[in-house]
Order: sequence, then C-alpha cells, then structure tokens
Amino acid sequence: MSVSQKLIDELMAILATTPDVKSSLQQICEAYRGGAVFSTSFSEEDQVILHFLSKITMPPAIFTLDTGRLFPETYSTWSRTLEKYPLTIQSYHPDHAALQEFIEAKGPNSFYESVENRKACCHIRKVEPLKRALKGKSLWITGIRAEHSPDRQDMTPVEWDPANQIIKYHPLLYWDHARVKACINENDIPYNPMHDKGFVSIGCAPCTRAIQPGEDFRAGRWWWESNKSKECGLHVHQTIEKTDQTV
Ligand code: SF4
Repeated sequence: MSVSQKLIDELMAILATTPDVKSSLQQICEAYRGGAVFSTSFSEEDQVILHFLSKITMPPAIFTLDTGRLFPETYSTWSRTLEKYPLTIQSYHPDHAALQEFIEAKGPNSFYESVENRKACCHIRKVEPLKRALKGKSLWITGIRAEHSPDRQDMTPVEWDPANQIIKYHPLLYWDHARVKACINENDIPYNPMHDKGFVSIGCAPCTRAIQPGEDFRAGRWWWESNKSKECGLHVHQTIEKTDQTV
C-alpha cells in the first residue's frame, strides 16, 4: 500500500466515526495540526465550510487567490466574511514581475484571443500562487461537490492530488445545492449576491457569465472555449486525469 493510500484510509476511518461536517473538520484538523489548509473563493460551498471552521478549536490556515480580476461583489463578500468571522484569510497574489511581463507582451485581455493565452493568464494569476499557498502543507480542504459536474460523480471525500502532491478533503462532496442554501440561510452566512443573478460558478470577472436554467454548472466559465479546453490547473482529479477549477 502506498503512503498516500494509507493516509487516505486513515482519514476515511476518521470520517466514518464523525456524525457531521463540523465534527469531521474538527477531528481532521486536529490530526493534521499545522499541515491542513483551506482554500476559499468565497463560493457558497466555501462560505459554509468557513462557517464550520469558525466553530472548531483548531482551524487550519485559510487562504484565497486574489487574481486581481475578481468581481467587486466577490471583494465585498470577502469583507463581510471578515466582519462576521474572527478568522485570518491569507491572500496570495500573482508574481508581479511575471504578470507585468505577460501584460506588456500580450495586453490585459489576451485570454479571449487563444486558449494558450488564457492558460498562461490562469497560470500566473492562479496556479503559481496556489503552489505557494500549498507549500509545506499536507492536507487541502476544498468546497468541491459531486453535483457540480458529471466528472465529479466518482470522486471520494478524500483523495490524492498528484499534481500538488497533497491529500484533498472535500467535506461537502455529497451535499446538494438545496442543503448548501439552507445552511447559509439558517446560519446567516454572508454569500456573494451574484448567486442571486444567475452566476453559479464565480471566478474572474472577464471570464465568468451568468447561466440560463438547464445549462451546465460550468457553462458560465470561459464560455467562448470548447468544453475540452476548460481547465486551469487548480484541481486535478486523479482517476480521470481531468483538470477543473473552483478556487
Ligand atoms: Fe486570467 Fe480569466 Fe484565468 Fe482569471 S479566469 S486568471 S482573468 S484567464
């Protein structure tokens, strides 16, 4: 048995004995102490997880990736979150020199011109800062849900991320959207008001649009590209070797 599989089995054993998400987060964060980290994009799922983390005795490090191109509403949600919860959210930003070189060579909106440019922008603004944020950590807590896409149906709450060499834990994997919304309403959790305007998966402003009823969860992201190229390198699902993004 590989080391990663042994760690996954240990975490699944913890999950089997805990009655709810808050207890699971408590026990898993205690088991990993300084090694656990939670990434938030202030999505509905991330806000629910952050709410539970505010209730446990040993919360993990929490970080967000500030790409510099987020919606004003996302920054407002970030501010309201800090007002409500006594937690520190670390902010990771693109490397200034790399971003300056890219913008001067390609222009500020080159992601519309080619998949190559879009991926380069995502790499500078998201992937490289993510690597910095995960450095030295051993457990990454995410807001991924199976309902988000068919590709996530076969995922398990704990999995190995080969790209980042880290164990990932998805505490809300089996929650449906109604349950997420109910938790937000019951606990008066701040959420991004754009969710009420048809924005489901919210990323950078130039690369996100609202979706129509019946459209895929991810249809509003990089809508000008084919589905095949819609990846940016943040989340790599081991089994299907497909990359997607929620941060
Ligand atoms: Fe750049 Fe768009 Fe990717 Fe944001 S989502 S990093 S603006 S290409």
